[in-house]
Parts: sequence; C-alpha cells; structure tokens
Amino acid sequence: MTNQRKGDNLGAMKEIAEVAVGLPVSKTFHYRIPEKMENVLQIGMRVLVPFKKRKVTGFAIDLLDHPPKGVEEKLREVEDLLDEAPLIDVKMLRFYRWIADYYIYPLGEVIKAGLPPGLLPKSEMIVALTQEGMKSLVQGGLEPIQEKVFTEIEKLGKLTLTKILKKFSEEVSKSQLLFWKKKGLIDIEVSLEEKEVKPKFEKVITYQGGESAQPISRKRSEILKWVKERGEVSISELNKRFKSPSKAIQSLKASGLIALSDREVIRNISVRAELKPYPKPELTSDQEAVLVEILKGIRSKRYSPFLIHGVTGSGKTEIYLRAIEEVLNQGREAIVLVPEISLTPQLLSRFKDRFGENLSLLHSKLGRGERYDQWRRIWRQDVKIAMGARSAIFAPFKNLGIIIVDEEHDPSYKQEEKLKYHARDLAVVRAREDEATLLLGSATPSLESFYNAQRGKFRLLNLPERIEGKPLPRVEVVDMKNEKGLLSEKVRAALKKNIEDKKQSLLFLNRRGFAHFILCPDCGLTFKCPNCSVTLTYHLRDRSLQCHYCDYRIPAPGDCPRCEGHRLQGMGIGTERLEQEIRSLFPETQVSRMDRDTTSRSRSHQQILKRLESGKIDILVGTQMIVKGHDFPNVTFVGVVSADTSLHFPDFRSSERTFQLLTQVAGRAGRGEVFGEVVIQTFSPEHYSIQKAKNHDFIGFYQEESQFREALDYPPFSRLINFRLIGNSEKKTKALSEEMGRIGQDLLKRGYGKGIEILGPSAAPFAKMRGKFRWQMLAKGKSPKLLHQFAQKLTLQLEEEIRVEGVNLDIDVDPVFVL
Ligand code: ADP
Ligand code: ZN
Repeated sequence: MTNQRKGDNLGAMKEIAEVAVGLPVSKTFHYRIPEKMENVLQIGMRVLVPFKKRKVTGFAIDLLDHPPKGVEEKLREVEDLLDEAPLIDVKMLRFYRWIADYYIYPLGEVIKAGLPPGLLPKSEMIVALTQEGMKSLVQGGLEPIQEKVFTEIEKLGKLTLTKILKKFSEEVSKSQLLFWKKKGLIDIEVSLEEKEVKPKFEKVITYQGGESAQPISRKRSEILKWVKERGEVSISELNKRFKSPSKAIQSLKASGLIALSDREVIRNISVRAELKPYPKPELTSDQEAVLVEILKGIRSKRYSPFLIHGVTGSGKTEIYLRAIEEVLNQGREAIVLVPEISLTPQLLSRFKDRFGENLSLLHSKLGRGERYDQWRRIWRQDVKIAMGARSAIFAPFKNLGIIIVDEEHDPSYKQEEKLKYHARDLAVVRAREDEATLLLGSATPSLESFYNAQRGKFRLLNLPERIEGKPLPRVEVVDMKNEKGLLSEKVRAALKKNIEDKKQSLLFLNRRGFAHFILCPDCGLTFKCPNCSVTLTYHLRDRSLQCHYCDYRIPAPGDCPRCEGHRLQGMGIGTERLEQEIRSLFPETQVSRMDRDTTSRSRSHQQILKRLESGKIDILVGTQMIVKGHDFPNVTFVGVVSADTSLHFPDFRSSERTFQLLTQVAGRAGRGEVFGEVVIQTFSPEHYSIQKAKNHDFIGFYQEESQFREALDYPPFSRLINFRLIGNSEKKTKALSEEMGRIGQDLLKRGYGKGIEILGPSAAPFAKMRGKFRWQMLAKGKSPKLLHQFAQKLTLQLEEEIRVEGVNLDIDVDPVFVL
C-alpha cells in the first residue's frame, strides 16, 4: 500500500513507530501510528505514548510498514506528537545508538542525556485524600503514621508519590500506600508534569511603508518615524521610549502602517568575562608547522584525528582558533569541549573576541531556559560554534567539521552519574561518524590518548616550547619529613620574596575546608558521615562538620560527645586553614581563596580571577580550580602544599592524576617576563609522578606509568568494566553481588569471554555513599568485543533479579577508547 521510495522516511505512510522511551528500560517499544499522524510523524520526533499505566515521552527511532511478528494485537497507539520537526537527525540517532550499545544503557535515556533538560514532560503519581480518607482524618482513630501522612497531604492538597516516600522514607513504603489506596483512603492518579521549557517570544513592530489616508496625531507620527528608522522594534523598547503607546500602536496597525508579530528572544546569558582583549598574533614557526598538518586534515573532509602535545603556554588556543576559522570557511561547524566552562573564562573570552556572536555556550551553570535557547540556536543553525563542558558533544550540528577537546586528559570529561560516558571518547566516535577533524590538546595527555598516538591511531603533533621561548619554571621538591609545620622554609621564603618584588603567588592544596577531620585524642573518636564511608570535614567559617560527598552537615561540637574531653583536634589541613595561616604569616598582604566554598555564587569565580589579573591579589590559595588554564603574567611563584592527597587516592590512575595536577599547577608560573618558580611539598619525594613533573618530563612519566599499567593489566593495555550494585539494604545488595559473581563465573565456565578476568565481587572503595550500599565486580579483558559481549550477557541475566530486589546496577565501562 505504500508508494514510498526505499529508505525515505519523510512523510512516509508507515503504520508502526518504534519508540525509545525516556525511562530506564533497555528495550524499545512499538506503537501504531494513528491516521492523523501518518504523513507527519518523522524519525527523531518526540511522541507521547502509553506505557503501562502512564503516559511517557519517547523518541520515534524508526518507522515500519508492518508490526514486528508476534506483537500485532497488543500494539497501542501513539497518543500525541510533540514536535513539528525532528529534534534529532538520522546521523545523531546513529551516534546515540552507538552510545547506548557501548555503555549498555537504555537508548531513550541516552537521547535524553543529549538534549537540554526539560524537554521531556514526565508523568507523575499524585496522591490525594479520598472523602473516606478525609473523614477518617477528622474523626481520628488512624494509625499514627497514617495520621502523619494524611495531615501532610491535607495541608498541601495533593502530593506526589515520590515526595511522600522521600519525606517519610523511614516510615512509609510504596506497598503501604497502595494498601491505603485499596482501602479507599487515598487516590493515586497519573498526571503530566508541566515542565517543558518553551521558546520565549516577544512582540515586535515592523514598519510596513505606505502613507496614511488621514492625517495622524503628532504622537503617532513620532512613533511611526521612530519605527521606520529602525525597521523593527520590540514593544518593550517602544514602551521605554514613549509613554503609554498602546493606543497609538493599535491605530497605526489598523491603518496598515505597521504590523505586529512574535519574535523569539534568546534568553540572555552573561558570558563575557571582562578580561583583556585578545588580538590575533602572527603564528610562531612551531604553531605554523602544527597548523599546516591540521589544515590538511580539515581540507580532506575525512576523519582526521590529532593529538597536540603542547607544554603549558605553548599557544594551543591560537591553533584551535585558526583551525575553526578554516572549518567556518568551508561552511562547516565546530564543537569545542573544555573541562569546565565556568573555570575557563580566559579561553571563552578569547573565543568571543575572535568569533563574536557565532558562538553558543552550553554548560551546567546556565538556567534551563538559557540552556534550551542555546541548544536551539545550534539546532536552527544560527551559530556555527558550540563551546561547552562534556555535554556539548551532543550539540545538534548537521555539518560538523571539527571537534576540539582542550585539556583532553581532564577527569571532568567523564560523567560519573547515570550514563557514564566519557566526552573525549565520544568526540572520537562522533568525529569518525561525521568525517570531521578531531583535535585533542594537552600538556599532559592521558595515557590512553598517548598510547593511541603511539599506535598510529592519532597523529601526534608537538609544541615543545613556550611562546617566545619563555622557559618552563624551575621546580623544587621539598621532603616534608624534614620540615615542621604546614609550610616549608622554601615556600615561606619564596612567598616573602614575591611580596617584596610585587609579584603574585599561587598556593595549591587539593582539599577544601579547615581540617580534614576532627579527632578526640582522649578517646579516639572521629566524626563519620552517617550516609557515606568518609569522615566529616571541619569548616571554620560556619563552625560545621560537612560531608563533601552528600552535603550532610552538623554544627561542630565544642567537646567530645563521647568522653566529654576538651581537646578535640583538627587533623589534616584544608584551604580554609591554609588561608588563615597565610594571613597570619603575611598580615599586610592581599590574600584570597578560590575553592567551591568561595565560588558558590555565580560569577564569584570570575571575580576572583579578575582581581588576580588586575593585581589586587598577592597570594591566591585554592584547590584544583586554580589549576585550569589561566594565563597570568605576574604569577611567578606556585607552591604545592601537599602532593600526597591525590597520590594516595585508591585508584589505579592516582599516579597519572598526580603528575597531571603537578604539571598543570606548575604551568601557571612564569608566563610573563619573569622566570617562574615552583615548590612541591611532599612526604614521597622519590615518587616518579613527582620526579617526572619536576623535570617536565611527560615522556619519561608515560614510559614508567605504562610499565606499571602493562604489568598489572590495567588500561590502556586492557579494558575494565565495573559492575556496581547500589542498594538501600546492605544485606540485599551484598547477597545480590554474590549472585552476580556466580552468574559471572558461570558465564566464563560456559565459554563466554575468553581471557576475561573477574575481580570480586567485593565492597566498593567507598562502601557506602549517600546512604546507599555499594558492592562491585570488575571484569578485565584485552578484547573489547568479548568483554562487551560478556557484559551484555551478564546485564541481561541480572536485570530480572534486580527488579525484584530493588537494587540498581550501575555499569561503568572504563573510558579507554581504542579504535
Ligand atoms: P596553552 O593553551 O598552550 O597553555 P596559550 O594558548 O594560553 O597556551 O598561549 C600562551 C600565551 O602565548 C598566551 O598569552 C597567548 O596570548 C600567547 N600567544 C599564543 N600564540 C602566540 C603567538 N603566535 N605570538 C605571540 N603570542 C602568542
Ligand atoms: Zn555523606
């Protein structure tokens, strides 16, 4: 019955839509297409479909002539069509499918992760009291917990099921609520959450030309003249200029001299970091050589992957800018990923200087409406460049020419919740799919990327020197075993000298708060988070103990609550304490601190950097926030207060992470005319991470670290998949993890996954997090294909059991992308 060309889905007379719903279910579902949608529904549009007893949003991911075998009768109809144009094109859909498969994650949820939040109205369960329930509440005689819950519902009229379960999590379960419903005391109904973000419009007036038949009043002719000069003005502009103009507008409109219409407004975002302008320089010969290669790649219009290994201050940004210029000349588009956009105002401001309004920003600090608008600017092809944190990899460009990943080694490219994707790896995949150029840049490339370069998967390009031959800073390592107090002789002397010379200093300490934890020396008591397996950190300003994982906080006690001893002590220092120490050492000096506690207000981060740039800060104390690519010529000394915090973190990447941090921090020193100096304080001065960082020796570090990884079969020489079970009940979670281990071993015995090694199951490194218990099992293997197969099989078998147990499976595919 169809007269469609094969492979053409536009306006097809298809009968069935395959839909990926935005829910954690791994399957997709089929629905009949009602007649009224037959010529309208296209792949990539959002639809509203019935799902169990609810209505949910999903994405039409395929259109079929016939229902798949065996489900004909059961098929329900698509209820509503939510878009007039597809939100995702076929290429994007392929990308999303790849991600869903690789990370073993439901397709609908993957697509959702790629779209701005708020595009999916979600149905929710509303709980209300029935007449019967109300009566019981008034008359009394309810169980105490019923009374509590009913009173709450009565007070608010109605409540969502989730809110009730959260509020009374200790006392009420879902089955209890269902039981009350059965007894006719409450109603539970489905409703659609109205949270879809919408484009914002304003009324505009346009001049239509022509003459008025009758003479018009002076006010009207003034307005008309004003509109005519501008061609188009918004009502709000007009309101500012003229007093109550609405009558005049109506009459001008009636005589056809002006017209009124709606214009979409882009919610304004404050992106301009008021930093110094960035003129376009002549390229150095090193830059020139690197750019020539990249331009060849761009002009080939083929997948061309590059890794730029350029020391800090070698001028990578200028390469990015020039490469993008070329891509724009071709009429293609660019994605620029940066670790955390709010932390890189300098980079942003350079891009703004060069490309102006042709740039869209995507990051998590934007409001929902702002994010939506930015996304739509890209989707409508109003802009050609998207810059943002990891989620910008999903920017809906149709004609992508380049993807740039700045500081490609940065851990923030890995999403640690839900869909655990790695944006750098996805950049590789998308660039390959779109036949685009890929530029990964770093002073300290990740082991994975450098390994890929060694194997010829990426072209390696080097920028071995700083611009204008500025030397890299001299780095000294101080063994803290021989020092007293927080700061070594060396650091104190260097700070003092810098103050005298009117130079600026940075002090890096990777832990915020005042004291890492509090200890009672009399009875040994420490304060632990009740939700997480960590100690609470002491914060002086509000005298509180805080958990840095779940934000649990309590007032700090004066005396030990167990033995009533008076000698509670702070152990291990944080930035707050460091700042205090510096202030008391150098009372005349301008000291400032930059960490999550001092930058929670929007723009406060930029303000601190601005003050640093304008010389209003002499010493800046901070966490890794101060590490990111800033370029301040007057900073000549950098002190690392403790290199040990990251070194002893329970993770096989801790050495790499330490090397990267130290190199990046050190890279902040000596960017101007004056030679830079760095002092690293540590209790492990001989560790190779520290020694290689001291000598600016990335290759040396890479070799040493590779040997360690290869010997222990860690990435990039193998791949890891972590299967983590997370549940409310310790017993159930543990029991299920044992079951998981059994299934895993059984799969191996049956011959799935040759060469796969299973570690665990065991309690996860942080066995309790945010109130949930965590058990895990690691699978290690050299063949990505076999490991992936194994993971799929295991997941499938586990899924059934998990649904019963109320425990979540969280799969973490280690981000080692080797093409
Ligand atoms: P990276 O990102 O590699 O750390 P930047 O791109 O920040 O380095 O460059 C370091 C400094 O060199 C910046 O101040 C930049 O303005 C300057 N710079 C870059 N390229 C040139 C050039 N070709 N000529 C002069 N100055 C340059
Ligand atoms: Zn906690």
